[in-house]
Amino acid sequence: MSSQPQSEQSRSESPLWQQIQPGGIGVNPGSTDRVQTGDWRTEVPVVDFERCTHCMICWVDCPDASFEVANAKLIGVDLKHCKGCGICAQVCPVKCIEMVPDSAENRETQPSNGASSESAK
Ligand code: SF4
Ligand code: SF4
Repeated sequence: MSSQPQSEQSRSESPLWQQIQPGGIGVNPGSTDRVQTGDWRTEVPVVDFERCTHCMICWVDCPDASFEVANAKLIGVDLKHCKGCGICAQVCPVKCIEMVPDSAENRETQPSNGASSESAK
């Protein structure tokens, strides 16, 4: 049994793109859902859920589908993928999203299950 993580193992067994013949079909496409892509940001959004009206405008405008939603309510921010662009804070009609410096302390203030759940558009 290999000690490699499954994603690395399957990646190493996949052919290089140069080896794929015309008409070849990718049966195991990549997905940013499986990798952390938000680790270069400098700020994180902090949502004041007391003031949030769950209008979902931030969810619609987020370029990275980083808001977590359940039962038509905003429930958290997926910081594995958020890039810290600040669009959500700009578009929120009640201004209940504040962009703050990215730090372990600030990240912990936000509920997140780290999964995209219903956030995929
Ligand atoms: S800062 Fe940008 S990427 Fe992060 S949740 Fe807001 S809109 Fe999405
Ligand atoms: S835009 Fe603001 S009020 Fe609307 S769901 Fe997002 S955080 Fe809540």
